[in-house]
Amino acid sequence: MSKQNILVINSGSSSIKFAVINPQNEHEYVSGLAERLSQPEARIIWKQDGEKTIYDMPNADHDIVCQKILHLLEEQQLTETLAAIGHRVVHGGEHFKASTLINDDVVQAIEDCKGLAPLHNPAHLLGIRITQKYFPNLPQAAVFDTSFHQTMPPQAYLYAIPHSLYRDHHVRRYGFHGTSYRFVTGEACQRLNIPVNESNILCAHLGNGCSAAAIYHGQSVDTTMGLTPLEGLVMGTRCGNIDANIFNFLHQQLGYDIDRITTLLNKESGLLGLSELSNDCRTLEEAMEQGHEQATLAIDVFSYVLAKSLSGLASSLDHIDALIFTGGIGENSRVIRAKVLQQLRIFGFQLDADANANNGKNNKGIITTADSPVALVINTNEELMIARDAAQLAGC
Ligand code: ADP
Repeated sequence: MSKQNILVINSGSSSIKFAVINPQNEHEYVSGLAERLSQPEARIIWKQDGEKTIYDMPNADHDIVCQKILHLLEEQQLTETLAAIGHRVVHGGEHFKASTLINDDVVQAIEDCKGLAPLHNPAHLLGIRITQKYFPNLPQAAVFDTSFHQTMPPQAYLYAIPHSLYRDHHVRRYGFHGTSYRFVTGEACQRLNIPVNESNILCAHLGNGCSAAAIYHGQSVDTTMGLTPLEGLVMGTRCGNIDANIFNFLHQQLGYDIDRITTLLNKESGLLGLSELSNDCRTLEEAMEQGHEQATLAIDVFSYVLAKSLSGLASSLDHIDALIFTGGIGENSRVIRAKVLQQLRIFGFQLDADANANNGKNNKGIITTADSPVALVINTNEELMIARDAAQLAGC
């Protein structure tokens, strides 16, 4: 087998997601997750040919599970097929406007963005250093969640706070989910036969984290997430947009300190906070069907805020060629898609209920009627996008 596969790595603080993908034919040879790292329950879940194998590795850290992954790849004769490694990196600050090959300067620049993503960037760097150690001869690329949004104009990325905070401390809106947006935009344009550089697209990436973006001629011109992934839409456990004075209120009225409030807004809010039941959209939909009032309320608030945000984002476009739904909720929740399109009726969206019920599967993902602006469901594939970028940068 020739060297054309890419090892895609998403190294988190207590997990590593990995996959071996051929970016040309899009075949995924293996994928997996090393989770609960440095804990007694540490393990690798290895997925290959539709089968799952679990390797318990008590207390294994990032380095030890990487050794094991390397060993398993060798057993499958996959190491000799690797042309490059692609790393997901959450925050590239203003430094990275595109994916890049990793060298010492790039490592330093990712390190410099640590303050903007204290949970993520150090974990990515750890993954990069370990894979550099075990695969010293392979080119490695960094693919940033933020870089796609570096095309936003200042009017979209500046907060109305003292300008020195931007100038001296890089406080601005960055946006995330860029790799997903790039993938689904390309896919939508192909399916609808529209040149990317002429397209006007609204996109909602709805997973555990949720954001939406306006993508004009293939470039991000606005998005809902900000300095951090807390801003914008209602999410599984994150509140999205909120009056910043809630910090004062909760401190003065309830005595909460900054850490308590930060946890409340990031981990205890969103669908979970509203429903007092679950952050999982499936659970909430089932509860809603059984008449659970707060689950219904959570889904209503989620859908309303999303629709309101999408209509705001539309003001950055000439018209709407497509509204894309992606991410676990966007790809699967017919309830939320129907509520959002109903709320967006001012744009003329007309839902095709049957198409929506089967996630648009029979018609390129399209869930609207022929005389409506197009809304469509596209399954995102960030790993494939990372593999494509890494292959291109490595020249293979
Ligand atoms: P992540 O952001 O972690 O990658 P996903 O993109 O997998 O997350 O999205 C997770 C969300 O998708 C969860 O809220 C989950 O409930 C929701 N989801 C997955 N399948 C369905 C479904 N069939 N119906 C409704 N929601 C779903």
